[in-house]
Amino acid sequence: MKAARYLVKGVVQGVGFRPTVRRVAVSLGLSGTVRNTPEGVVIEVEGDSEAVEAFGGELLRRAPPLSRIDSVEAAAAPVRGLAGFTILRSEEGDAASALVPPDVATCDACLAELFDAADRRYRYPFINCTDCGPRFSIIEGMPYDRPRTTMSGFAMCADCAAEYADPADRRYHAQPVACPVCGPQVRLIEGDVQLEGEQALERAVVLLDSGAIVAVKGLGGFHLACDATREAAVSAVRLRKGRPEGKPLALMVAGPDEARRLCHIDGHEEAMLLSPERPIVLLRRRGADDVAPSVAPRMVNYGLMLPYTPLHHLLMAGVAARALVMTSGNISEEPLVRDLPEARERLGGVADAYLDNDRPIARRCDDSVACSFDGAPMLLRRSRGYAPLPVRMPLTGAPVLAFGGDLKAAFCLTRGEEAFVSQHIGDLEALRTYEAFGDAVDDLCRLLCVEPRLVACDLHPRYLSRRFALEYAKARGLPVCEVQHHHAHAASVLADAGRSEAVVAMCMDGTGYGVDGTVWGAEWLLADFASSRRLARMHHARIPGGDAAVVEPWRMGVSWLLEAYNGRMDRAEAVMPASMAAMNVSAIAEMVVKGVAAPQASSCGRLFDAGASILGLRQSCAFEAQAAMELEAAAGEPSGAVYPCEVYDDGELLVFDPRPLVRALAEDAASGADVSACAGRFHDALAAGMSALCVRLCRREGVDLVALSGGCFQNRRLLRGVRDHLKGEGITVLLHRLVPPNDGGVSLGQAAVALGRAERG
Ligand code: ZN
Ligand code: ZN
Ligand code: FE
Repeated sequence: MKAARYLVKGVVQGVGFRPTVRRVAVSLGLSGTVRNTPEGVVIEVEGDSEAVEAFGGELLRRAPPLSRIDSVEAAAAPVRGLAGFTILRSEEGDAASALVPPDVATCDACLAELFDAADRRYRYPFINCTDCGPRFSIIEGMPYDRPRTTMSGFAMCADCAAEYADPADRRYHAQPVACPVCGPQVRLIEGDVQLEGEQALERAVVLLDSGAIVAVKGLGGFHLACDATREAAVSAVRLRKGRPEGKPLALMVAGPDEARRLCHIDGHEEAMLLSPERPIVLLRRRGADDVAPSVAPRMVNYGLMLPYTPLHHLLMAGVAARALVMTSGNISEEPLVRDLPEARERLGGVADAYLDNDRPIARRCDDSVACSFDGAPMLLRRSRGYAPLPVRMPLTGAPVLAFGGDLKAAFCLTRGEEAFVSQHIGDLEALRTYEAFGDAVDDLCRLLCVEPRLVACDLHPRYLSRRFALEYAKARGLPVCEVQHHHAHAASVLADAGRSEAVVAMCMDGTGYGVDGTVWGAEWLLADFASSRRLARMHHARIPGGDAAVVEPWRMGVSWLLEAYNGRMDRAEAVMPASMAAMNVSAIAEMVVKGVAAPQASSCGRLFDAGASILGLRQSCAFEAQAAMELEAAAGEPSGAVYPCEVYDDGELLVFDPRPLVRALAEDAASGADVSACAGRFHDALAAGMSALCVRLCRREGVDLVALSGGCFQNRRLLRGVRDHLKGEGITVLLHRLVPPNDGGVSLGQAAVALGRAERG
């Protein structure tokens, strides 16, 4: 006889860990106990000494799919003569250390039952088990237990209760367990007609196949769904929900084979599509297909996802359409709609019918968006499936609440070394989004039992997120740590990668407020968590009209041409594409030359806008970064021919000077060169020039670690180019993985900087 005690840390609560422990112990003939504690899961086993020794390895081997074991501490313990194996009640205080589990896509076992005519949950749209189903979107309070979920109103039937109570069952302690007898039901509302259950599903399928728009209630909100192959339906969705022209719509397809029909997919991308997180994955289009042109006009990628709820599986199995548009159920940038009254009010003009259900949504959670880079996921929008699991940081301290940026807003709350980046909230300019932001902050603090002691925010005096942070701090008497936007980007990659040493950070971004009050956006910083020093920047170009330039890239085209030709309008005009010349060029030129309403900026994003404009790809945008995305899409294969860039010293900083590149690009295009070759050279020249400067700075500062962040690194052509150059020089490159390189990731960086500064005093 022998006994041992284990302490297991990681994502081990709410994922079926304790029943697995019990199953493993019982299979080895061991007795003992398992319980959740504030430190982690504590296991005591005793019995035959060989079996006790085998236990740890067996547990790791059979750990439930959703668990993530960070550490296992084992110690010998006295034999107590326990009988059987017991799952003990959770200790009080659990909530203060517990993780709130994210929503999980339907597992294979549930899927098999869903389509098994002999199963009692055959075609039941809310089938789930310990390995899958709703979590974050139904949890009302912690610890995670059925009475504290939106399932509390559904009393389990005898069959479900038996499964729930049986440690040997797949549904043991599965909080959302339900069946057609006792659980939530779907209904379809179409005008005055209301259909229930199977009839509702059938009607929804008929409607979708006839080109109608159906608002479908999902996990974290409604989707607007329609047949993706019908142009009339797709453009109606776009028009009615106020989706800007050209902004891609996400597609849902039945499985990997259907995804492969539309896009090129490698093994990593297939794994991402099939992962329990089920993000929308950006995948390269094959070309000719039957998808309506307005789904993703001029984009090289489709955003594809596979069904992640039983309801999605039933719909996809029923419709004749081989792809459905599944776009967020909201109007433009407002928060997702999450119940029927709200759907009727906000989506009344959009949807032809509502596929509703009576399981309430506790909080909104959008779909996540990811792409594959170097065979691993890179998140571009971190939300469903990922939130609110923490990023483990290499530093700790009192709880920080970091408010992030204004676009792609997400906040970050820390608890020890855990950083909880919130679900994607949206763009704060929309009033409803601003309100939703406040609700989400209070909600996460409550769920995680954290009271922030320090507030972090951006420096930008006009950011709504900063205004919010200052109000929040003032009301609670908390200190505020203001973090420069690109320092936050740099710290975000560091925290994401779990590193804490000083790096040269290359932040290639749209715009951010600089410590000198000017607009920054293409910066080389020497940074760690506590401090940041600007080493180099991009040559300044004026942004005529400030924010107006974001949607009118031709303004940046004019500005950069004037920079490139030392203010010589005649030379600029000689190389301008006709589409740019057709604009009010002289008025903008005057703003640039006189410097009126045209701030100096070192923005990388605006240089991409200028590039797209000079190539005549796009002169006005319906949404931010549209021109830059199309420039990336247009770029052909690397050709070896590269435009020149220079570097000069302005007495204070090294300055990356793309003026020769802009001249070469414009003259190349004006002489009739192939647009895709020009776009390719533009990318390759920037990647080569920016990396060369970075290498020079690394050598000078004695650093061989580079961090890449900023919205421009969503451009994988640029990212790959920069990464290859730096690696070729023996430099280690840190990339974003868990949080986005865009402003959706800055709250993590702000939190890390606040902790870093607090640590350094
Ligand atoms: Zn399942
Ligand atoms: Zn039941
Ligand atoms: Fe940014």
